[in-house]
This record gives sequence, C-alpha cells and structure tokens, in this order.
Amino acid sequence: MRAVVLTAPGTPLQEAELRRPVPGPGQVLLDVHACGVCRTDLHILDGELARPKLPLVLGHQIVGTVAEAGAGAEGLDAGERVGVPWLGWTCGECRYCRSGRENLCDRARFTGYDLDGGYAEQAVADARFCFPLPSGYPNLQAAPLLCAGLIGHRALRLAGDAERLGLYGFGAAAHVVAQVARWQGRRVFAFTRAGDDEAQAFAAELGTVWAGGSEEQPPEELDAAIIFAPVGALVPAALAAVAKGGTVVCAGIHMSDIPAFPYDLLWGERTLRSVANLTRRDGEEFLALAPQVPVRTHVEPFPLAAAQEALERLRAGDIRGAAALEVRPS
Ligand SMILES: [Zn+2]
Ligand SMILES: [Zn+2]
Repeated sequence: MRAVVLTAPGTPLQEAELRRPVPGPGQVLLDVHACGVCRTDLHILDGELARPKLPLVLGHQIVGTVAEAGAGAEGLDAGERVGVPWLGWTCGECRYCRSGRENLCDRARFTGYDLDGGYAEQAVADARFCFPLPSGYPNLQAAPLLCAGLIGHRALRLAGDAERLGLYGFGAAAHVVAQVARWQGRRVFAFTRAGDDEAQAFAAELGTVWAGGSEEQPPEELDAAIIFAPVGALVPAALAAVAKGGTVVCAGIHMSDIPAFPYDLLWGERTLRSVANLTRRDGEEFLALAPQVPVRTHVEPFPLAAAQEALERLRAGDIRGAAALEVRPS
C-alpha cells in the first residue's frame, strides 16, 4: 500500500510502499478514504512530542471502510464506514480507566503516534475505538470531526457554562467549537494571529460577535477562554481577558513555555487547566451532536502525496478551517 512515513523527527515525510497491515485480534483493517491533518502531527514531525513509534505513519482522524475484521473484532461489519480518533487503545485496568477517565490511561496508545495512523491507503484499528460516523458527512468533511471536533467538544465542556467564550487560535478546532457554542446560545470572541484579516473574516462568517488579534483585549470581559494555539504567552493574555471566576482551558498537546505572570491574573477564583486526549464517551456525544447543530466543517483537501505540504501550510497558518488528505475517493 502507498503511505507517507516519518522516519526521523525533523526530517520531511517520505512516500513509501508498505506491506498491507494485517488486523490482529480485536482489530479491523480499514480502506482509508480520508485522514485529517492536525497540529499534533506537526508537533510529532518537529520532535516536540517525545516518543513516537518510528518509522511512523501519522494521522489520527481516519475515515475508512472496514475491509476485514480480525478474530474477535465485534460490532463492525465489512463495508461499514467508521472513524478512528487519537485514542487508539487503553488498558481498562488502571485507576484512570476504572474511573471513567480513559483519556488519562497510564498505558494508552495513540493513533498516528504509538500506532500507525491514516496517512496511508490502509490502516488497522482496535474495533472498540472506532466510531460509526453520521451519514450526512462526506468523507473529507467527516475527518476533522475526529480530533478538531472531539477535542474541541471536550474543551468546550470543560470551559463550563460560560456565556462569553474566547477562542485563541482560529483553526480547525475553533471553527467547529464556534458553531457548537453559538448553537448553545453562547457569544463567541475569536482571537487570531495579529493582522490575520482572512481568519478574522472567516470567524465572523461563522457568527462570532467579535474577532481580533490575540494581543488585543476583547470589547468585554469573557467568562471562559480556550487556547488552541500552541503559544504559552497566550495563557497570561487569556487570564487577563476572563472575568472573576472564569476558566482558561489549554486544549493543545504541546505549548511553548508559559511566561511568568503576576498572581493578580489568577486571583479572583480564575481557573487554568489543560485538556488531554478524549474518552470514547466524548466521541459518542460529539458525533451525535454534530449533525444536530449542524456543524459544517470547512475542509481544504490535499492528495496523500502532498501531506508534507499540508503540514507546512498548517504551520504557516494558511489553512481556512481544517486540512485533510483525500486518500481513496469513494
Ligand atoms: Zn489531533
Ligand atoms: Zn488504563
């Protein structure tokens, strides 16, 4: 099968012919139709996440059709369309797994990091971690639901019932969260890179009440903010923008160092927290919610061979909405 492979962090992805993977017990083999491109893929490529499997097939927003089921893979039939998220396997035994927090599992394995992902014509996945996908979404449009959507949903839940919500970094996740938050009756304030008029116009199209640069103060205090951009300096900026009792959620897996800031910014019962990974429950909830809103994903497609280009465009902030690889058009 054709694939795009990371052989060493800091070097470009390479096209390769790999042996077709064989589904092990409990796994399914998928024909990959599309795979979303995520900021996390860029962190892995750049060596900012410590221990990827190498060589590695990136990609943790896989939309595929079941081609073959391994022994004991229950609940999925050949021909069924499913999505594979970042959470690829959990132990089911540790204190986190046993308390409904499998996102924090000590032994979790992640798709496109510990396990080969979807930048390839075929992939294997544990059947228990595959989600049926809502039928109204074509393959490319479904792909960003699987990380931008799921992690965004979890971050939004952990932001509490904030009426005035700030989103720092208006990329794939924020463009989904903005739609859900607005549907829930919240008012959304979008923060982009300074001077990024296109991203601010895109945010306005999605119904945000204000869009500006991340160094700007919003026109009124916020009740919560979610930081999607991997920039530590946004933490004190967001704390300065939220009202007393407000929450700042860091939703990325990696961030540059957070600069020191005066305690005053946290005082007043402000909360600062991160969001890590997802649970299968998050996935089920969000994939049921998305068609109700309905969330419409804006996707820029790239062929599999252009995965590196897609990542560089993402790095440059040059993607409107989400990027996804179109692997096997169906
Ligand atoms: Zn992701
Ligand atoms: Zn566990």
